[in-house]
Amino acid sequence: MRVLVVEDERGLASGLAHGLAEEGFVTGVAYDGVDGLWHAVHEPHDVIVLDIMLPGLSGYEILKRLRAAGVWTPVLMLTAKDGECDEADALDLGADDYLSKPFSYVVLVAHLRALLRRGAPARPAVLAAGDLTLDPASRRCRRAGRGLTLTAREFALLEFLLRHRDEVVSKTDILTHVWDENFDGDTNIVEVYVGYLRRKIDTPFGRRSIETVRGAGYRLRGAGG
Ligand code: CA
Repeated sequence: MRVLVVEDERGLASGLAHGLAEEGFVTGVAYDGVDGLWHAVHEPHDVIVLDIMLPGLSGYEILKRLRAAGVWTPVLMLTAKDGECDEADALDLGADDYLSKPFSYVVLVAHLRALLRRGAPARPAVLAAGDLTLDPASRRCRRAGRGLTLTAREFALLEFLLRHRDEVVSKTDILTHVWDENFDGDTNIVEVYVGYLRRKIDTPFGRRSIETVRGAGYRLRGAGG
């Protein structure tokens, strides 16, 4: 069984690699996000242990790109209890399991074995709000049975809104999840893209799925507007 460990804390990473090798796993290690994504895409693994806060690319970004590339290797995310990223986010983004740091090594191995028994995860469920649907696996979006053509950014924005349907999400939340977390441009970019989306998913259908919540952000109505 091949395990890929993507973790920038070198002590923790090499400790894990060493321990897992003793358990009989073939273990690869990557210390930053870019390297981690490369190994995850180009080499076959049975399971991936993925830290969230990584230099280069975050664990979230890696997971997103892996699934978008059709790589369905089970992923166990390492979340930090005090961090900004929580377990709900990890599972939302398609992680198969998570462990909060600090964790015990024995518990990690038990989680990995359980994941391996389960095998590759199912393709993610189609997200929906009323007659608006978005399939993260096939990258298709439809409303009222009609296929909609979205750019990659519009697709990512709509996916984020759908995953948080009926919740108010701030522009900052959107920027962090849909744009790069280091994006330092104008937050008005969010408004611009919400406008683009509305013109594709709402206006032609006479709907108002994406509400502007003054001073707070946006909310996608679960019933589909
Ligand atoms: Ca880290």
